[in-house]
Amino acid sequence: MANADIAAVMKEGACVECGARTADGLACHDLFGRLLAWEQDDAELASLHYWNVACYMLQHPSNYTEEGYAMTAGIFREAYDRKWNTSEILEATRTFIADKGKFKITNPLPSGERRRLPREWSMTIEDIYRGGERNAAQNVKVWRSRVRREL
Ligand SMILES: [Zn+2]
Repeated sequence: MANADIAAVMKEGACVECGARTADGLACHDLFGRLLAWEQDDAELASLHYWNVACYMLQHPSNYTEEGYAMTAGIFREAYDRKWNTSEILEATRTFIADKGKFKITNPLPSGERRRLPREWSMTIEDIYRGGERNAAQNVKVWRSRVRREL
């Protein structure tokens, strides 16, 4: 997904969807951009790429259609519970899409027309960013367990 498509909407300094607050002048999706940039210099964090993206995206359901979100959440649960590696996750995603036939995963509506419902999460991209680059991999592991529990 291109960055423009996942632009979060900030209101009074907080993401209207996941609740992350602006940090160092960075909006929610910019904090996510930083996390992805940190992957370049951190092999362990890079190995967690699926989780970095999935945790963030699952906290922003407006990016998905209803079926797309259910599918993404389902794979996330399975992957977490069964401790799948990245290739197992990719395989499951391919199989699911093939089985399910053709349906839209991502929300076809332009960003400005999407409905965004606020939801409270115990941990968001804000916590990952504030925890700093050095602790990011460790913190993402906590994040994914929180998302799994709260999903
Ligand atoms: Zn957000």
